[in-house]
Amino acid sequence: MFNLILFGPPGSGKGTQSEKLITKYGFKHLSTGDILRSEIANQTQLGLEAKSFMDAGKLVPDAVVIGMVGAAITANPGVYGFLFDGFPRTKPQAEALDTLLSEHGTSINVVLAMEVPEEELIARMIGRSKTSGRTDDADPEVQKKRLSVYKNETLAVADHYSQFDKVVSLNGLGSIDDIFNALCAEIDARA
Ligand code: AMP
Repeated sequence: MFNLILFGPPGSGKGTQSEKLITKYGFKHLSTGDILRSEIANQTQLGLEAKSFMDAGKLVPDAVVIGMVGAAITANPGVYGFLFDGFPRTKPQAEALDTLLSEHGTSINVVLAMEVPEEELIARMIGRSKTSGRTDDADPEVQKKRLSVYKNETLAVADHYSQFDKVVSLNGLGSIDDIFNALCAEIDARA
């Protein structure tokens, strides 16, 4: 298996690039944000509990997202590999992911980290809110909160995988195709 974490702040292009990568390589896409939004749309208990955190730009509790990812890994045996998008977002999530993968005899191969300046992230969130209807993208206070959560809680995930030499940083500015080609080159060098 080849398992990849697509890493970066909100608005760095993880969702856009994930779509292209799953088409090319056949990864199983695990986006915790997408799973949570579908739970909200289906008005499940989990969705109702997650919504207030998401609307405020805060992280949903670790136990909730770790449980979702564990269930998704178990439900998808025999895939080429998993592409984790928006997960892990805290050090405990990263440690739990490593444990879950090792229980399935596999591990993270590489963390591809997309770097984008803050002004551009905000511009992209505003642009995305116009078509996606995502309220967490539209509100300036929530945008700021999400960026501060990224710095204070999520950057620790890159530190965690750096210890194992698994993090590759890439420029997330440029055309979608150029960034995609740079991501593919890193995957092809390791697959
Ligand atoms: P995203 O679509 O990845 O930007 O996620 C949107 C929102 O969903 C985040 O701001 C969090 O409230 C929640 N969320 C998504 N993934 C996670 C995660 N791994 N841990 C905690 N909260 C998450």
